[in-house]
Order: sequence, then C-alpha cells, then structure tokens
Amino acid sequence: MTMGIDAPERGHDAAAPGVKQIARGLFLTEPRRLEIREFELPEPAPDEAIVRVAGCGLCHTDISFYTGAVKTRHPLPLILGHEVSGTVERASPPFDALIGHRVIVPAVLPCGHCDLCEAGRDNACASQTMPGNHIHGGFASHLVVPVRQLVPLEFLNGHRLEDLAVIADAVTTPYQAITRARVQSGDLVIVIGIGGIGTFAVQIARALGAQVAAVDVVDDRLARADALGARWTFNSRTTDGKTIKATLLIASHVSTARWRILEMSGTAAGQELAWSLLVPASTLGVIGFTRDRPEIRLSNLMAFDAVAFGSWGCSPRHYPEVVQMALTNRIRLEPFVECHPLDEAPELFARLATGEHPEKRPILIP
Ligand SMILES: [Zn+2]
Ligand SMILES: [Zn+2]
Repeated sequence: MTMGIDAPERGHDAAAPGVKQIARGLFLTEPRRLEIREFELPEPAPDEAIVRVAGCGLCHTDISFYTGAVKTRHPLPLILGHEVSGTVERASPPFDALIGHRVIVPAVLPCGHCDLCEAGRDNACASQTMPGNHIHGGFASHLVVPVRQLVPLEFLNGHRLEDLAVIADAVTTPYQAITRARVQSGDLVIVIGIGGIGTFAVQIARALGAQVAAVDVVDDRLARADALGARWTFNSRTTDGKTIKATLLIASHVSTARWRILEMSGTAAGQELAWSLLVPASTLGVIGFTRDRPEIRLSNLMAFDAVAFGSWGCSPRHYPEVVQMALTNRIRLEPFVECHPLDEAPELFARLATGEHPEKRPILIP
C-alpha cells in the first residue's frame, strides 16, 4: 500500500539552514535523575531530518532505562523516548518534499543495507537506530532522526497528531508479532498481559477476525479486553494454565494448529503460563521482555510439534498498514492514551518506577 502525501503545513518557526536552533529536552543524566534543559540541535546530515515533536509515548522500556535496569546504547546524558509523532521541520533534497508533513517516527530505524535488512528482517538489523537509546529521543521539542523511514500521515481523520505517537511502538509491536504468527480469521489468539501492548494486540487480532482469549492478573484490564471483543478472559491469579487450556479446548472449537499464544506481560510468570498453554502444532510468540528466567521444559516444543518465536519491535514496512488501521478506527487509540505536559515527566517517571502500572499509556507533550 502506498501512502499519499497531503498538502504540507509549512513549519513557521523552523530555523534557516546554518542557523543554530535551540530545542528543549528531558535528559536522563544518571539513573533516576531527569532534567529538562535547552540544547542546541545538531545540524542534520543529508539523510536526516529535524522533526518537531507533537507527542512521545512513555513505554516500559523507558522506565528500564530510567532505573538503570537496562543501559542505553548511547551514554548518558540522553533524551529518552521512542514513540514519536510530529512534523518535519527540516530535511535536505531529495527528502525536502517531506518538510511540513506530519509523520510517525518508527521506534526501530534499520540501516537499510545490511544482510538482515536485505533478508527482510530489518527490525533485527544490528546497525539499527532507536531514538531514545542510540540517539536523542522524543521527550523533547525536536529530534534529529534518519529521514528515510519516516512514515507520512496522509490525513488525520479527526485524530490528534500527539495521540498517534503510540503507533510507533505500542501498536506496531503487537502488529508485527501477529503478522509473524500468521494470524488469520478464525484463529484463536491468546494474549497474555493486557497492558500497553496487549490492549492493542487484542484489537488487531479482532480486526483480523480472530477469536481472542485474554489473560491478565488485573480484573479491570480483563474488563477492557472484554469490551474490545475478547471472547474469553482469565485472571491468572485465580485460574491456572491447566484450567485455561482445558476451558479453551472445550469452548473454542478451534483446531490447536490455529492457536496463537502471545506473551506480552514481560514477566516470568506470564512466560511460564504461555508455555503451559502449548498444545499440538500451536505457535507461541514472546513479545514481552524480562530479565527473569522462567522454569520451562523446552522439550514440550518437540513433544507438541509446536513453534516458538520472538518478535522485536516492528519493521517500518508494516507502518503504513497500522497507520491506516488506526486512522480508520479499526484500532482505537484514544481511550487508551493520556497526555501529560513534558514538565510533569520527572514526577511521572518516579511514580512509574515504583512498579505502578498506568491504566492508559502516557504521552508526553513538549
Ligand atoms: Zn517501547
Ligand atoms: Zn541493517
């Protein structure tokens, strides 16, 4: 699918080439210390653009960087944030036609020419750039990013540009996993973890015509999955994997070869549960991340003739399809996001680092 480009909105406050432009960003200076500072935007290289940020989603990965549990690839101080929507303010030929266009910045920007990129596995590119990890990210007024993979938005269809920021990770990540699992109409998709990513996985699976079973430890999130069309919901605090499996075997009437088990909780308990749901010829995807080690019997894969795969981020080539689904409301974003001014970020990070799970995905507005 090709995305057309609408009439550009000219950046009114863009600096002329060669003139230093001052931006404002939230710097992580050391673990658990954030500072909002002004900084001079670097001159973009010929293959880079300056994007004026509309909004940037706050992801669990940002919290891991914040606490120091996961180290950023670029040394601190660094501006975090990898779920960005905004408007292109500066770009050089042949990309200057993008100036003034609203775009999504993919969270994973592959190099485009290594063997993995050429093999169509570009989201696993070893030379990829992730804003807020390899380079300064989107918790800022502006960011400088590789221009090639920016995803122009043809129209907004009444959506606010800042709300669309979550497409860059929270929505595209489950989309790629569901695509990788080859989910089709009539399949049974079991989503474990109805959080920032699982909420969108339920919607994408439903949009593709799959039947959905949702598993979480929080009843409110299960109610949310139910409202989004999940046919079965299970609280794994009170229902064990054996019972969930037995219930679905009887109730779903779907061949076990069409079971797609997607682990999105990023917990060892969720991973162990996912593993316990393996059935003959089923497929299991690992999308959540934890450093903890689940206790599993790997040979179950062999015994069940099952497939397990991992999925990291999302290739930019899937973005136009996801954008289209969001803009036409086949995936609903607005009920699941909440905007906060960037100035509130230090307090918000501190709160989320205590393990508090926001019910809606926070989007920081510069
Ligand atoms: Zn993320
Ligand atoms: Zn590459």
